[in-house]
Parts: sequence; C-alpha cells; structure tokens
Amino acid sequence: MTTIIRRFVETDTGHRVPNHKSKCQHMHGHRYRFEAEIEGDVVDVDGASEQGMLIDFSDVSAILNEYVHDIIDHAFVVYDGDELLLEMFKLLPPEHRIVKVPFIPTAENLAKWAYEQVAPHIRTAYGNKLRLVAMHVRETPKSWACWRE
Ligand SMILES: [Zn+2]
Repeated sequence: MTTIIRRFVETDTGHRVPNHKSKCQHMHGHRYRFEAEIEGDVVDVDGASEQGMLIDFSDVSAILNEYVHDIIDHAFVVYDGDELLLEMFKLLPPEHRIVKVPFIPTAENLAKWAYEQVAPHIRTAYGNKLRLVAMHVRETPKSWACWRE
C-alpha cells in the first residue's frame, strides 16, 4: 500500500504543432497545468516537519516552479526541427523567451519532458520511499495527456 499525492503548477506558454492538419499548426498558446503525481511512504520521524507526509506540498511546488514553470512560463516552446519558426525568431531581440526542444511540443511530449525535469528532484531528507509516478498535463479544459515511466 502506498499513498499518493498530487500537486500542480500552471504556465502560460506558446507553441505550435508544425505538421498538424488543422489549426494547431498556427502559433498559439495555452494555460498549461502540469500536475505531478507522487507515491510512496509517509515520513515516520518523530518531530520532523514532514511527519505523516510523503513530502511537503510546498517542496513539490518549489520543484515544479524551478524545473517547469520558470523555464516555459511566458515563453514560446519550439521544436528544433521547425525551421520556419526558428528563422522567424532570429528577428526577435534576445530577451524574448524561446525554448527550443528536440520534440514536437504536443501535450504528450511536454508531459514526458516535465516528468524528466521533475523526477530526479522528488525526495525528502528522511529517505522515505518516494517516486514520481506520473506527470499529467492539461492543455485545455477538455484535453489532458499523461506520461508514466
Ligand atoms: Zn496548442
């Protein structure tokens, strides 16, 4: 038996799906929600701040902020094979936040990316068993993707 917790962060991020047959090929953005699902055993150390928790929610939030939000919030995520966009972005001053990625930035691929960004940082100082089991990504209120290892 393990306990599961979930915590999310939201970002305002631009993207496009260059090969898409319809409107997703256009430059646009979403209010993404990246929700980490963590399972494990609760901290069993008398007097510890995290006693009875898997990990402090605020620590999960800090990890999501540092490794997901602060990288792609108010940024445009672009596939490094999207020559058209990369050529156009060369016209922008360097302070514009362009994040090049080696994959087409679909919700599915962003879920895997965020999982890999966050997973190595999910731990406490107490050595309790903890694992990021999934990263759920909401692209629109009707559309979610999930990456599980
Ligand atoms: Zn989109």
